[in-house]
Amino acid sequence: MTNLDYTQLALSGVRQLQPYQAGKPIEELEREFGLSRTIKLASNENPLGPGKASLAAIVEASRSLGRYPDGNGFELKNSLSKHLGVAAESITIGNGSNEILELVARTFVAPEHEVMFSQHAFAVYPLVTQAIGASAVITPARDWGHDLEAMLAAISDKTRLIFIANPNNPTGTWLSETELRTFLDAVPENILVVLDEAYFEYVEEEEYPDGIRLLADYRNLIVTRTFSKIHGLAGLRVGYGIASPVISDLLNRVRQPFNVNTLAQAAAIAALTDTDHVRASVQMNRLGLQQLALAFADLQLETIPSVGNFICVKCDRPALDMYQGLLRTGVIVRPVANYEMPEYLRITVSSEEENLLCLDAFKNVREELV
Ligand SMILES: *Cc1c(COP(=O)(O)O)cnc(C)c1O
Repeated sequence: MTNLDYTQLALSGVRQLQPYQAGKPIEELEREFGLSRTIKLASNENPLGPGKASLAAIVEASRSLGRYPDGNGFELKNSLSKHLGVAAESITIGNGSNEILELVARTFVAPEHEVMFSQHAFAVYPLVTQAIGASAVITPARDWGHDLEAMLAAISDKTRLIFIANPNNPTGTWLSETELRTFLDAVPENILVVLDEAYFEYVEEEEYPDGIRLLADYRNLIVTRTFSKIHGLAGLRVGYGIASPVISDLLNRVRQPFNVNTLAQAAAIAALTDTDHVRASVQMNRLGLQQLALAFADLQLETIPSVGNFICVKCDRPALDMYQGLLRTGVIVRPVANYEMPEYLRITVSSEEENLLCLDAFKNVREELV
């Protein structure tokens, strides 16, 4: 045996990667603190979970688990095609929409390229950039959101891909159709733009654009969406990208053939028909967002106005102490220091009852920390 260090054999981009920090699992917290009633508001999951239609489809599809899934996702793409009004050839299914983000980078980005995204934008963008060994260009945020003018100004000969989250996670900020079109009009056509719409279904603002309607005007655009958030299927890992058939064809060449499993495909198809569940989820989120924003305002605490299913609150005690204190009471929220937001905690919007439990715990922990 030698003591060869295999770290030295890894690609330099991979060596520099920091593992993605997921929200703390409920089971882990219960083990650590011996708690029984815990609530997890850390990963922007749907408090209602999956809808009945998806659950029934999962049971039914489980009979055919002896076989490989449909590698082309034929039925799921057809359902999405009808639901979204796009050609099936424009769709790429992914193991969560995170996989689509990675597929785009692996398909188009080489180590000599630059990948651009905003400060405080979604953590997966730097991950996929570094894994390839490309350079990240991170533009400063404006009012916590994307500064599209700064992004245009930062474009260079090496820029190959730009990630935009609308709305953005963790800040919950959003871009209007006019802002986005002005930006897309100015981006050179050899630069791909990923418009990450993981929270699309939650947004009710009139000026909020439907990225899919922009595809006709911008051939360099790729829109991504997911079943993890509004459809409550985060555990199954299924999302999708929509782009021109040419780009979709390329992504599908890189995609692993069985990347989306049988249960996920069946549950996703059913979820598209379950409009009651979507409506209930949007409604619960709208009320919950108001509830949390008002309650924090009453405490004289600032929040960042959000259109997602989460809200960031600025703590007047060290945010990590607040986070740890909340954990001890069985409430898991998300510290966002890794997003350059050390004073903030991100809280996933839940039911009225869970929001109240969280707010009560927040008040108690805050008082203890005086
Ligand atoms: C949650 C999230 C995703 C994707 O999640 P998947 O579960 O991989 O579909 C993508 N982008 C943003 C901004 C998110 O918050």
